[in-house]
Amino acid sequence: MDTYRHEIIVAGGGFTGVAAAVAAAREGRDVLLVEKSGFLGGAATNCLVNPFMNYFCKDMETGESTPINRGFFEEILNELKAMGGLHENKRTFNEEYLKIVLDRLCAKYNVKVLLHTIITDVIKEGDRITYLEAYSTGQKLKLAAECFIDASGDANLAALAGCDFQLGREEDGLCQPMTLCLRIANITAKNIRELRPYMNEMFNKLQAEGKIKNPRENILFFEHMSEGVIHFNTTRIIKKNPTNPFDLSYAEAAAREQGLELLNFLKEYVPGFENATLIMTAAEIGVRESRKVIGEYVLQAEDLLECKQFEDSVARGAYEVDIHNPSGTGTVIKRLPEGKYYTIPYRSLVPLKVSNMLVAGRCISSSHEAQSAYRVIPIVCCIGEGAGTAAAVFVENKNGAMKEVDIKEVQRRLTKHNALY
Ligand SMILES: Cc1cc2nc3c(=O)[nH]c(=O)nc-3n(C[C@H](O)[C@H](O)[C@H](O)COP(=O)(O)OP(=O)(O)OC[C@H]3O[C@@H](n4cnc5c(N)ncnc54)[C@H](O)[C@@H]3O)c2cc1C
Repeated sequence: MDTYRHEIIVAGGGFTGVAAAVAAAREGRDVLLVEKSGFLGGAATNCLVNPFMNYFCKDMETGESTPINRGFFEEILNELKAMGGLHENKRTFNEEYLKIVLDRLCAKYNVKVLLHTIITDVIKEGDRITYLEAYSTGQKLKLAAECFIDASGDANLAALAGCDFQLGREEDGLCQPMTLCLRIANITAKNIRELRPYMNEMFNKLQAEGKIKNPRENILFFEHMSEGVIHFNTTRIIKKNPTNPFDLSYAEAAAREQGLELLNFLKEYVPGFENATLIMTAAEIGVRESRKVIGEYVLQAEDLLECKQFEDSVARGAYEVDIHNPSGTGTVIKRLPEGKYYTIPYRSLVPLKVSNMLVAGRCISSSHEAQSAYRVIPIVCCIGEGAGTAAAVFVENKNGAMKEVDIKEVQRRLTKHNALY
């Protein structure tokens, strides 16, 4: 088995992983980013998740809303905009351009990228990971480093390393539903938002008659960069475990059936959809929530809703608690006070039991309710940036454990790169 050695290895090339890899590499570290798909972007490309959820916060004195997820996320936005891949609403984006932007940014910062490579095992000595085993193109690889960042979304590395985790919600382990996003084209309706009440009324009527199986309470859709195309985030697969391969496989097929059901409904009942065509379902069903690692601090929804300012903060967020019902119909929303934001403490990225690994992105140490808020793309991107910067400081200072990293130094470096924490 060939061995490849780097200072830092990042597992997972979603927004979290790319941000972590770039943040560590721009500090001069030798970084390998490992991704199982053929492109970067994670849920934003693989699962067609769109648009970026709220990354603005209102200044109560001026009344102006300004971005609070900045740093590397802002660099991505600028590159997308320059390519014509960002809508004027600043949230809708073209994921094909995004793939190119992320390739280019990794190249710019000298991140070594390994695509089509799946990490299959974690080899430890005591509480330290010494190397990962991976598989790609008919061969096994050994990937060694001084420290590791688990940005796999599902906390796959942490699970393989024997870390404790909470799956789904605390009372029964159920995760937020999985959703297969899809795109429908050839829509001639001029203002689809005006049709929303009628669409939902008809959808609910047919649900009550048992003619629509999808348990979602309404049709969730967003505009798309192309004319006549709408992005639907409407399928809902409940009570299935995204870390169980059989449940996941069931979910993919069941969600495709829901997608077809939605298309047929729109064509039959909604004016302007008569010639609608299903042009694309995502390559993978979207997983909102699965494992959340147990770390030095378990972030709570109260910390977010009360806008707690942690001293060891590495990122900010302004997105609300947003729980799609894990067991059926309905969505719980709890908003932040206007003009306020919360912070993400470094300790929630530090798992118990493994000393040279951080966990970043949607699987950090938190409650089910807290996860529903910080999981969105702009925030996980900033969490990744914080994790990568901390990993660089860990390697430079030859720290014994991730929890010993000088967080004030991490914060100084984040400020240098225009990131807010
Ligand atoms: C249906 C749905 C709708 C959403 N809607 C929105 C929205 O509108 N706006 C918004 O901002 N956010 C939204 N979110 C949330 C957001 O998309 C995700 O939480 C976020 O993208 C997670 O980013 P991440 O980098 O942490 O993980 P991911 O994007 O999941 O990236 C993890 C990466 O790790 C890779 N990986 C996993 N295991 C391995 C392994 N063993 N070896 C190698 N690679 C591996 C995966 O292939 C993947 O690319 C939504 C999520 C879902 C599922």
